[in-house]
Amino acid sequence: MGPRLEPARKVKLHLFAAGYCTHPEWVTLRGGGLAVIRIPAIFACIEHPEAGVLLWDTGYAPRFLEETTRLPNRLYRMTTPVGIGSEDSAVRQLADIGIRPEQVKGIIISHFHADHIAGLKDFPEALFYYAAEAYERVCRLRGLAALRRAFLPGLLPDDFLQRSRIIDPCKRVALPAAYPFTHGLDVLGDGSLLAVPLPGHADGQIGLLLSTALRDYLLCADAVWSSAAYRENRPPHPLAGLIMPSRRQYKESFERLVQLHRQVPELRILPSHCPEVWETEVKGGAEL
Ligand SMILES: [Zn+2]
Repeated sequence: MGPRLEPARKVKLHLFAAGYCTHPEWVTLRGGGLAVIRIPAIFACIEHPEAGVLLWDTGYAPRFLEETTRLPNRLYRMTTPVGIGSEDSAVRQLADIGIRPEQVKGIIISHFHADHIAGLKDFPEALFYYAAEAYERVCRLRGLAALRRAFLPGLLPDDFLQRSRIIDPCKRVALPAAYPFTHGLDVLGDGSLLAVPLPGHADGQIGLLLSTALRDYLLCADAVWSSAAYRENRPPHPLAGLIMPSRRQYKESFERLVQLHRQVPELRILPSHCPEVWETEVKGGAEL
């Protein structure tokens, strides 16, 4: 057995998928097939004993379709076909398990790609937690420049900055020695949710370490696109590098996850777009 995280607070974790996009498998996984596969936009609901309900990203929302009706944003939809109905949005799926929008007290944003932030406007009471760099690198981009970073500024609530709580780079927490990260950043200040840097796919992208009663998890966003990728050390096709701000950082983050899985196999690494996670762990929000 590898080391378990020992946070002061354990949380409950529920996974959902809010919409999906389609791509040929070979783009996302070296050696993958030619067939077009459905790639889920997974988000997580975290129940914290004191802080209440928090989300990790939001997936797609119907608002994404409104934002991509006209050019240049329409190019997004033309290159990445998206499936999202009103019943698939985070806010609707949470309502189905009895969680009202105002009950969501915080949303931890892995990075600012549209398929991770399309639902932000549906949660009026939520504070937004993210790494400063993730926002700074995209916030002034508009039109094609924004689109090249998969950022649609219209998805951010008008009071986004007032509700932002940037993750403090000084709030460091030590991790077990087997973890290939020097430290985690304490998102809430109680050691329960630890952000780790996974840049490359997007500037300032973070992953989130947390611990439930049963096991430890790393929500790793888009640092890998599937569990097979880190398990079998299969990075995506070099073409996928076209959309990355830094291939070098992507490779470093990818290799960290491969190493983490080898050194701490009990830790479950959950990529946001993994078809296997969709099949096995996203069960209408059942507790993991
Ligand atoms: Zn992304």
